[in-house]
Amino acid sequence: MSDQSSQLFTAELAQMNQLMFGFITTQAIAVAAQLGIAELLKEEPRTAEELATATKAHAPSLNRVLRMLASVGIFAEDANGRFQQTPLSELLRSDHPRSARGSAIMCGSELVWRPWGELHAAVMSGRSAIEHVFGATFFEYLAVHPDDAEVASAGFTSASAMDGPAVVVAYDFSRFERIVDVGGGHGGLLHAILSANPRLRGVLADQPAVVAGATTLRRGSLANRCEIAGGDFFISVPEGGDAYIMKWIIHDWNDEDSLKILRNCRRAIRRDGTLLIVDAVLKPLNEPDPGKLMDLSMLVLAPGGRERTEAEFAALLREADFSLARVIPTAGRLSIIESRPS
Ligand code: SAH
Repeated sequence: MSDQSSQLFTAELAQMNQLMFGFITTQAIAVAAQLGIAELLKEEPRTAEELATATKAHAPSLNRVLRMLASVGIFAEDANGRFQQTPLSELLRSDHPRSARGSAIMCGSELVWRPWGELHAAVMSGRSAIEHVFGATFFEYLAVHPDDAEVASAGFTSASAMDGPAVVVAYDFSRFERIVDVGGGHGGLLHAILSANPRLRGVLADQPAVVAGATTLRRGSLANRCEIAGGDFFISVPEGGDAYIMKWIIHDWNDEDSLKILRNCRRAIRRDGTLLIVDAVLKPLNEPDPGKLMDLSMLVLAPGGRERTEAEFAALLREADFSLARVIPTAGRLSIIESRPS
């Protein structure tokens, strides 16, 4: 390329285009995940025609989605028009131990996609975008839309499959006797913690309708070491644990609501107990930071939710009568904020 033409389409312009059109990739991944393309390619490569027959899709259109995805490394197309798996597309298989499938489907679903279209309204009003679209907060909306609640739970389970293992290896849970996972969803994280720590007992606490779906913990091999507790963490949390863990809970709420949850943990925790908040801890200034993307997700989806800096966590914990002991980074997107009753 001549100097002159490289100035006409600069690297910055290419990067700007890639960033601006990110929504195309989001929806293409979501459609492939929804159709289960990665499952269909598990055994052998297949053409778009074959994949369309298996998924009842329109073959030429599916072909266009798949060749776009192959251009960013998700699936690969061979010279005979057959698509095959790549390391990236493997992550869309539902039986992959770090499966991203549930998250991918959630990102493209009406529940998440429509509120993102109202980011502007959220920025102008300070209210979450989901309230502008559905007239309800995220959890209020899920309470009366069981299909969307299923999409969300599968999304959280998938997020736990991606981020949970890094949390489990970053911290020594073996010294605890009884750990309470507050807002533990379907129990993905608790399952991983109990599996890695054979003497530990666990309590899964979440809304009754959510814990009803915790089938792997309820029926699986860990059932005799795990209690299930349906309830509202704004009213109380199960008592008597020596460890309380909350992953992706505090970031859902403003300081006032977060304090209600933390004070309920303070009332319930043993005097010598440990509270573990598992959330992103915002990095300073311009550093690349997935936490800052997540923070916008909270602006769109959560009523007053946001990611916080270490100083903000310390202040919040102090107000709830805990003192921050240390922040342990994990290999994933999250950190473990360890604190004790003051
Ligand atoms: N800790 C899980 C789920 C995070 S999503 C994970 O990391 O995957 C937030 C969770 O908070 C959801 O499971 C939701 O059901 C739960 N939650 C929201 N409001 C609640 C309330 N009032 N009482 C108990 N749990 C609640």
